[in-house]
Amino acid sequence: MQMISKASSCAMASLSCTRARSGLCVWPGARQLCLRKSLLCGFMWLLSTPFKTLRCAGRTLRVSQFCSITNMSSSLQIELVPCLRDNYAYLLHDADTGTVAVVDPSESVPIVDALSRKNRNLTYILNTHHHYDHTGGNEELKARYGAKVIGSGLDSERIPGIDIGLKDGDKWMFGGHEVLVMETPGHTRGHVAGHISFYFPGSGAIFTGDTLFSLSCGKLFEGKPEEMHASLQKISSLPDDTKIFCGHEYTLSNSKFALSIEPNNESLESYAAQVAHLRSKSLPTIPTTLKVEKACNPFLRSASSEIRRSLKIPETASDAEALGVIRRAKDDF
Ligand SMILES: [Zn+2]
Repeated sequence: MQMISKASSCAMASLSCTRARSGLCVWPGARQLCLRKSLLCGFMWLLSTPFKTLRCAGRTLRVSQFCSITNMSSSLQIELVPCLRDNYAYLLHDADTGTVAVVDPSESVPIVDALSRKNRNLTYILNTHHHYDHTGGNEELKARYGAKVIGSGLDSERIPGIDIGLKDGDKWMFGGHEVLVMETPGHTRGHVAGHISFYFPGSGAIFTGDTLFSLSCGKLFEGKPEEMHASLQKISSLPDDTKIFCGHEYTLSNSKFALSIEPNNESLESYAAQVAHLRSKSLPTIPTTLKVEKACNPFLRSASSEIRRSLKIPETASDAEALGVIRRAKDDF
């Protein structure tokens, strides 16, 4: 019953968006607000759509006011919040304790809006890495809510307002949820400064920042192909039904590159069609799953003979070397 009422409220939001696009919304900022509603509703729709492999043994997913991931002992609600041009921040709510966190707030205003709609405070700010489009909202949010900023202890000088530094292998508790910290360098420096991912094993969710995207990986601004390859392998070792929440909505353009170097990958072809459909309706493609990424993401498939033929990567090249070639080709695409 609740899903039906939510579906109809989504339909109303979509209608509002249609009106906004056709210029009928009259108040300033309405279009942006409507777009956010549309994206959120799309996210909820994704969670209730069969082709998204979000259901797994021992867990159920239900759509409440926003996405809930429920297992036997706890429930974690995850709300996708579009920021800037193509960033995603995520609001996490532990329904049992009322603890709230935001992952990678690019800017403060959309986060404040989302919190205000639910009349919630903010307990923690989690940063995967120091880049401005992942930390730009830190200081305003910290000042407004008194939230603690958590990030890589190896990068504390570059993370605005950091209070708690974590490192690879650390376990941290978000309300009743265990969080495993995984150092995932490659996009930013490995041994001097870190990029971390936050893995919630009880909920089967990981926040990968700019390490693993749907159908791509982050640019190697400071790291080496070997580091990115090792980071992606580490993430790949998680269960296949792990939901990937990444830092950007890049999937459509990523799909074009992926298809250009592996055109005979039928799983990729099918996923790319789903992605194009979602984006044509301004709906998010996130979360993706590890299973989908293993089947389709060229940066998890650097051993693929078709990809290697396409990019003239010799058979003798290691998977990490091949990843470096794929990354350069993507940069030039
Ligand atoms: Zn970045």
